[in-house]
Amino acid sequence: MRLRSGSKQLIRDLNISTVVETVRQRGPISRVEIAEVAKLGRSTVTGIVNLLLKEGILVEAGSAESRGGRKPVLLALNPRARCVIGVKLAPASVTAALADLHAQVLQKVRRPLSRGQGPEAVFRTLLDVVHEVQRMDDGVKGPPVIGVGVVLPGIVNTTTGTSVASHLLHWANIPVRELLEKELRIPVLVDNDANAFALAERTYGAGQGADNLLCVTVGVGIGGGIITNGRVYRGSITGAGEIGHITIDERGPLCSCGNRGCLEALASDGAIAQAARRAVAKGRKTLILEAAGGDPSAITRETVVLAAHEGDRVARRILREAGRHLGTGLANAVNLLNPERIVIGGEAVQQAGDLLLSPLREAMKERSFSVLADEVAVVPAALGEDAWLVGAATLVLEEVFTPPIYGADEDRPPITIPSLLGHTVQG
Ligand SMILES: [Zn+2]
Repeated sequence: MRLRSGSKQLIRDLNISTVVETVRQRGPISRVEIAEVAKLGRSTVTGIVNLLLKEGILVEAGSAESRGGRKPVLLALNPRARCVIGVKLAPASVTAALADLHAQVLQKVRRPLSRGQGPEAVFRTLLDVVHEVQRMDDGVKGPPVIGVGVVLPGIVNTTTGTSVASHLLHWANIPVRELLEKELRIPVLVDNDANAFALAERTYGAGQGADNLLCVTVGVGIGGGIITNGRVYRGSITGAGEIGHITIDERGPLCSCGNRGCLEALASDGAIAQAARRAVAKGRKTLILEAAGGDPSAITRETVVLAAHEGDRVARRILREAGRHLGTGLANAVNLLNPERIVIGGEAVQQAGDLLLSPLREAMKERSFSVLADEVAVVPAALGEDAWLVGAATLVLEEVFTPPIYGADEDRPPITIPSLLGHTVQG
């Protein structure tokens, strides 16, 4: 992206954006207070507020106590003035959420994907859910959608919106943004799912207020998102954070990435289920088989967690081992990154809770520099299963609420509040 040069239009765009951001952060707020906080002239603020009220971006929200004279009218951001869509593409399903300007999920649509579906079939389903989620229950057309954020596993080039490599989706070099923008005709942003998870937890969840944060998700895969100095750290070709593929055991089991002994091969859903199947095959006395309806091939991470909650010792041991592997992985990350907080989420953690988290914390402390580990709080994620969707929506919202100092690059101009008002971004 290139910086825009100074012009009357740029100054006006910046002032509009500053007023909206001031109201978003501090609203309900009066015109006089906006002028004070944003250090803008009162007449400038009045002109911009009138425009934003007419466009429905701001709304009146009662009145404040008078400081002498008329009671000042308070203004708030109208979260339903526009909408964004967040999409999570996973190996077994695609989910779309319609969200407002505060990233509140208004409605969701989820469709399963069958194994071995090629990119074409996946994109047909993806387009279906994006269209369907925009239809409100009452049949009324919802607010205009200004952008779509798509998150998926693997390495994503966020500049071009290309899925560079995803071994979980079994594809490489898929131009996700290009394909979707051609069909949807609205801007599309693409990112790695764990980065989106980190962005969501840092903005709205358990990572709020932490500028140096590591977010880890445990499920079918193990993903990581790194926040340094308040921003997502993406690395040289946007592949940073692949904590699931750091080596824990050089001679360990084969991983989906082709390596041996990765954290993902030792502590993901598949690894937990496999450890349980091995225990059953060895004839260990356990409730796991019963929880799977007597069929060893039906054993999943969920059945292991169910048995563990019943007090089953084999199931508890399997979760403890997975938790310790996770702790070893996190110890490496703590020594490398020195985060102030680690947010850990995903279905496995939600369901197993301390059965995974206690051994995780224990191994992490044992294996990292104690002076670093003592300062790290390991906390469960707060946004639940919506975290990825909120993160996908936040990709778009971050762009919308960023001051419009960047001009159009070769692909498209950024989505900004002034551009939504029909002020074409120039310069
Ligand atoms: Zn691996």
